[in-house]
Amino acid sequence: MIYLDNNATTAVAPEAIEAMLPWLKEGYGNPSAGYRFGKASRRAVEEAREEVAALVGAADPAEIVFTSGGTESIHTAIRSSLSVRPQARRLLASAVEHSAVYEPFQSLGERGYAIDLCPVDAAGRLDLDAWRRSLAADGLALAALIWANNETGVLSPVAEAAEAAAEAGVPLHCDAVQAVGKSPVEARALPIQSLSISAHKFHGPKGVGALYLNRRSHFEPQILGGGQEAGRRSGTENLPGIVGMGVAARLARERLEADPAQAATAALRDRFEARVLAAVPDAEINGEPAGRLPNTSNLLFPGIDGEGLLILLDEAGVCCSPGSACSTGSVQPSRVLLAMGRSRSQARGSVRFSLSRFTTETEIDEAAAAVVAAAKKLRVVFGSGTSGRVVGGRS
Ligand code: PLP
Repeated sequence: MIYLDNNATTAVAPEAIEAMLPWLKEGYGNPSAGYRFGKASRRAVEEAREEVAALVGAADPAEIVFTSGGTESIHTAIRSSLSVRPQARRLLASAVEHSAVYEPFQSLGERGYAIDLCPVDAAGRLDLDAWRRSLAADGLALAALIWANNETGVLSPVAEAAEAAAEAGVPLHCDAVQAVGKSPVEARALPIQSLSISAHKFHGPKGVGALYLNRRSHFEPQILGGGQEAGRRSGTENLPGIVGMGVAARLARERLEADPAQAATAALRDRFEARVLAAVPDAEINGEPAGRLPNTSNLLFPGIDGEGLLILLDEAGVCCSPGSACSTGSVQPSRVLLAMGRSRSQARGSVRFSLSRFTTETEIDEAAAAVVAAAKKLRVVFGSGTSGRVVGGRS
């Protein structure tokens, strides 16, 4: 198998697995317990908190709240803002948010909130002028901005967008789920209120994540109960998961400190694209090539249905993601690609490949050859188009 779907999830780092095992076996004490057995668990949680804080450049480890993952962190940030500003009935986000932001915003829209979606250009870059104009509206409870897009890898102009939000007095939440561990994130350098993090996107375990909460921001807890996480997120901590996340965070930070641009991964991605684009000349990159995560390649194959391509690639042992997703039984083209001005058929002809630090040059060469062979085969068999069904959503 050649795994090129690392924006969906990553392999857990062996070091993280090793570190988790003792906390699944003998170290099962409740971190809230007062005896030494529990205090050892507490220390493990706090060490992990320090690692996660260091990875995202938090000013203080206390700004990190452990959660069950990116989706919970995002929902918590949104709901807290609504609680803190009950009179505010307007929300702002980019047009290319992940569904973890988009869907709750849609649901709030149905309940009477005004939702502004700030456009992006054909390369997926945020329209900062439109962002600033939207921030001037009265009654904004929250602005949300994806740091790095999960489908195209395109990076948002977070510093400028955060500055504009701060000037307008609007709290900003950044969905940094795809950025953290792949691109430098320095929360303390930015006037943002909160930031979402998910361990399974940077070689940590699934079902554990964190919400960075700027210590100067107002926060209203959304999950009440035993008062864990300093009262900000009740529920007994996922101790092994948190420990694994801490180790994955340390490994990711060390790699980013050594090479902030992740040059080796970017070189492999570029090699992959060069090979495919040379052999399929009308294929195109979706998203600003120079302003992307180093691991992400979203390619458009005009006249080819991405679903057919995925089936052939699966047969060849290559895992990757479609530019369309199944919703209520029909194939829906990617909302993100449509927001970038791609047509429905262009979105259907798009496929995402995402690498990790475990991806090798041999795998890249084999995957590129498989993609080229599949694209040529589909053109011969179906001429200018194929059809298919996609199962599952997009991560
Ligand atoms: N935000 C983005 C940009 C993502 O890519 C994902 C995961 O696919 C999420 C949020 C949700 O994270 P989780 O799977 O940890 O709930």
